[in-house]
Amino acid sequence: MKPYRPAFFFDRDGVVNQPPPPAMRYLRRWEDFHFIEGMPALLAEVKAAGYLMVLITNQQGVGKGLMSAEDLAELHRAMQAELAEHGAAFDRIYAATGLAEVDHRRKPSPQMLHEAASDLGITLAQSWMIGDHDNDMRAGKAAGTGTIRVVGEKAVTVSSDHEARTVDELATVIRTLFTG
Ligand SMILES: [Mg+2]
Repeated sequence: MKPYRPAFFFDRDGVVNQPPPPAMRYLRRWEDFHFIEGMPALLAEVKAAGYLMVLITNQQGVGKGLMSAEDLAELHRAMQAELAEHGAAFDRIYAATGLAEVDHRRKPSPQMLHEAASDLGITLAQSWMIGDHDNDMRAGKAAGTGTIRVVGEKAVTVSSDHEARTVDELATVIRTLFTG
């Protein structure tokens, strides 16, 4: 049997990295990917505290033909290599790349969180979903995790258990959730 562990699930754009400017819409290239300052260090802290860390991202740009699956994989390889230098690489990355109308794995579906729970042995009820969009909060709630909202430019119509406006606030919230 797998040893079941808690996890922190992270949305990507707007949480880990600066969201793409509206005109760009989808990040296709590593040179356009910029970590939010302080996030690699915070991810390293979460990992060092013994939590699994899983990236859960909707990337419809692939389904729209604006980028290839290989572009996305290459971007994530580069991201992971950079994070690994900080001791902060994600344990697994799940991306929903199909069009919204047909891709049932996309957030707000909890599908990708369930896949991660099964693949990695995660106790969802002791885990947290962190995101900047209502659909991140919906996915977390549907999977039975706690929710942490990174408040940014996105409209907020879904409640969350915790809110953070800066990386420092997010770090403070996360530290209060560390157990043992
Ligand atoms: Mg986001």
